Amino acid sequence: MSRARLVPFLIFLSCAVALQILTMWLMGRVWWCGCNEFFIASWSIWSRHNSQHLIDPYSFSHLSHGLIFFLFLRWWGPRPNVDLKLAIACTIEIVWEIAENTSFIIERYRSVTISLDYFGDSIANSVADLICCLAGYLLAQALGVRRTILLFIMIEIVLLLTIRDSLTINVIMLLWPLQSILRWQQAGLLELGTMLMPT
Ligand SMILES: [Zn+2]
Repeated sequence: MSRARLVPFLIFLSCAVALQILTMWLMGRVWWCGCNEFFIASWSIWSRHNSQHLIDPYSFSHLSHGLIFFLFLRWWGPRPNVDLKLAIACTIEIVWEIAENTSFIIERYRSVTISLDYFGDSIANSVADLICCLAGYLLAQALGVRRTILLFIMIEIVLLLTIRDSLTINVIMLLWPLQSILRWQQAGLLELGTMLMPT
């Protein structure tokens, strides 16, 4: 992106993030995890720190959002308009971040997915999700289409193997919840419980 385009984009991004933070604050979201411990990453999706610190396994699905936005937006509009496409990608991501924290979606997550303890993101986590999406978009741009698709598939597989959830599964479960998937995910929680049980 040329310098002439970078400055307006950064101004747009600052305003958009400020609006995201303000909206989430008005929605009653907390700034940071209630544990008040300032570690950056939380790797268990079953813990109360999930979606409350900066990075967690779902950060990778937000990175995937960026990959997908790149794949779709590259077919649209004049090629040099990277800044405009990035601005569109950020806008969609922020709208999703806000939607994800409405009581409607939170209830939906809690009732039909494994996210039983999901009470919405912290503001810090939500802004970090946006940065992951932005990073995903820029990464996709550097990688090109084929490697971006490959990276997307790899992230999906790694998430499925590690947390029994992924962007695809997340979308399926939100729209058409399948009992078979839910049972498989819950079995993962049971396994974890057995592993953590004192002997
Ligand atoms: Zn915490």
